[in-house]
Amino acid sequence: MSLDSLPPLRDVIAQHDLGAKKAFGQHFLLDLNLTGKIARLAGDLSQAHAIEIGPGPGGLTRGILEAGAKSLTVVEKDARFLGALDDINQASGGRLTVHQADALDVDEDALLPSDAPRIILSNLPYNVGTLLLIKWLEADPAWWTRAVLMFQREVADRVVAQPGSKAYGRLAVISQSRCDVRMGLKVPARAFTPPPKVESAVVVLDLLPEAKRFADVQALGIVTASAFGQRRKTLRRSLAQAAGQTKASAEDLLNAAGIDPGARAEVIDVDGFQRLATEWRKAR
Ligand code: SAM
Repeated sequence: MSLDSLPPLRDVIAQHDLGAKKAFGQHFLLDLNLTGKIARLAGDLSQAHAIEIGPGPGGLTRGILEAGAKSLTVVEKDARFLGALDDINQASGGRLTVHQADALDVDEDALLPSDAPRIILSNLPYNVGTLLLIKWLEADPAWWTRAVLMFQREVADRVVAQPGSKAYGRLAVISQSRCDVRMGLKVPARAFTPPPKVESAVVVLDLLPEAKRFADVQALGIVTASAFGQRRKTLRRSLAQAAGQTKASAEDLLNAAGIDPGARAEVIDVDGFQRLATEWRKAR
């Protein structure tokens, strides 16, 4: 059997009784043209090991394998999909490895072969999408090189946001301190079965080379949480919480980082937050 001889996804869902469960954030993509397009956003997969979180009935899984991934490892929490995924494995010539687990708990580095770059692809379950992204951004040592991720449109906007915009905040600063990010594809709610309440979008993140990647994600997390936690206040005031964990005042930290204490968080660029995180760490 080959991948293109597999039945349409609607038939797979009916055959294995795979009705979507809300508790698992299940919204399926059944159009294989669309899942192929998402897989191709990852570029040439033939020299990469791919990992997909939440394959469900396997629409994107099929797209990734058809795009020629050297191997594909999937992590799915809901055991109901194992039969359908096994059929895909057989049709792919054994390139698919399935793990039934919660993606928040797995050690991806240990699961994946290490003789080629690793690429993450996922139509993420909305309830854990941001948590998974943060887990991957914080991973040290970094085990992946590129991620192609579908989020709710609002979350995707927050990943790629630029200073001065409403969407600019913690997620933009942390993502862009570790990766080059770009909006890949906007996807309307009606593309999913069942349709979610909001639009979605695919974001492509390329991990920066180590020399350009900001290492202290923890400090960055603390200063951005404080600064954007009260985003309408000036940094002199909003940063007091993070400064309280150091020997310095908010004003001292800001001056040392070359940032105007009278400015608001949303106008400070990613470099500015990295300088601030560095000063925060020095003052601990
Ligand atoms: N990839 C499929 C598609 O595009 O049609 C399904 C996407 S659906 C939005 C999210 C998938 O993630 C579901 O299959 C769900 O069971 C799975 N999932 C939800 N939470 C998970 C978790 N914590 N770990 C692993 N898989 C999870």
